[in-house]
Amino acid sequence: MTKTVKDYIRAIHDFPHEGIIFRDVTTLFADARGFRMAVDQLLHAYAGQRIDKVVGLEARGFILGGAVAHQLSTGFVPIRKKGKLPGTVISEAYQLEYGEAVMEIHDDALAKGDKVLIVDDLLATGGTADAAIKLCKRLGAELVGCAFVIDLPELGGRKLLEDQGVTVEALCS
Ligand code: 5GP
Repeated sequence: MTKTVKDYIRAIHDFPHEGIIFRDVTTLFADARGFRMAVDQLLHAYAGQRIDKVVGLEARGFILGGAVAHQLSTGFVPIRKKGKLPGTVISEAYQLEYGEAVMEIHDDALAKGDKVLIVDDLLATGGTADAAIKLCKRLGAELVGCAFVIDLPELGGRKLLEDQGVTVEALCS
C-alpha cells in the first residue's frame, strides 16, 4: 500500500516528560520519499498564491520551511527562541504549560506588505504559531497562512489561528 506522510512519523512515549506522546518527524525528514512528499503537499496547498517569504519556526520549521522556500524561489526568514538571533530583534512572549517562552525575529527581516507563509512541524496549542503571527504582523507583513505537517486538533491551535482569520494547512492530524 502507498505510504502517506503520517506513516513516516513515529510516536515516542514519555518524551520529553512522562505521559507525553511526542510526534517525531525526524523519521519523515530522513526518508527521501517522505520528505519530498511532505514538501510537495505543502507546496500544492498554496499553488497559485503569491508568497514573498517563508518564515520557519525553530527548529524543525527551519528544515521544512527551508525546503519550501527553495522550491518557491523565495527567501527564508527564521523565527527563533530568545537570544539566538544576532541582529536587532522584536520579541513576543507566549504561555507554555509551565511558564513563558519568547520568540524573536530580526526587525528588518520582513518588509511592509510582504506576503508570508509560516511553516512549522506541528500545531498543538497554537501558542508558538500565534507569537510568530504577531511578530510578522508587527513588521507589516501579510499572512498567506500557517502550514504544518501535523495538527493536534484537541489542543485548540487551529481554532486559535482560524479565529483571527489565519488559514491553517496541516498534512495530517
Ligand atoms: P504549540 O505552541 O502549538 O503548543 O506547540 C507547537 C510547538 O511545539 C512547535 O514548534 C513544535 O515543534 C513543538 N512540539 C510540541 N509538541 C510536539 C511533538 O509532539 N512533536 C513535535 N515534533 N513537535 C512538538
